Amino acid sequence: MNKINYQKILDGIIEENSKNEIVPKLLLHACCAPCSSYCLEYLSNFFEIIIFYYNPNISLKEEYEYRLNEEKRLISLMEFKNSVTIVDGEYNPIDFYSAVKGLENEPEGGKRCEKCFRLRLEASAKMAQELECDYFATTLTISPLKNAQLINTIGELTGQKYGVKWLFSDFKKKEGYKRSIVLSNEYKLYRQNYCGCIFSKRDSNNNTN
Ligand code: SF4
Repeated sequence: MNKINYQKILDGIIEENSKNEIVPKLLLHACCAPCSSYCLEYLSNFFEIIIFYYNPNISLKEEYEYRLNEEKRLISLMEFKNSVTIVDGEYNPIDFYSAVKGLENEPEGGKRCEKCFRLRLEASAKMAQELECDYFATTLTISPLKNAQLINTIGELTGQKYGVKWLFSDFKKKEGYKRSIVLSNEYKLYRQNYCGCIFSKRDSNNNTN
């Protein structure tokens, strides 16, 4: 099956909105500051952005709060053409553990991650609907370790369910991931060495032992 070029779709949406001089309202689900850096630098030229920090998958609570504070610090330091604000999602790890029950031993990139994406994108779509956003998207597609095809498929279906347009993306294209490393260094952002959940922390510890 041919892979869809989601960056090309995003280029088309941006071009169409720019042609019509429209600056749509975008809810951008953010996983962490390093991944947000490039996405914000890029998207804030074309959208008014509300960042939705919803990540009940992150363990431990201290780590969650640290990543959230880094996200807020980044927003306060960067300069944007259009407005960028942030909404904190609820932090209920139990929601994550219920969603991935039975998949604790899956490797990163496996079935557990699919459930994790669904959980976070469903909450994002709901919030985007509540805040009357034109689109919603996620920074998750910047990671070379995450399946952008799967994330976009889930996003599109979830958007249809809540009546909010999904903004297709593959932020690692156009050197997005590399740029996020440059920006992370520039803003001295904390770059974690595991994805977020306790299982990814366990696997990263095992790999370094
Ligand atoms: S490895 Fe990352 S994406 Fe996968 S379940 Fe854990 S936190 Fe979620």
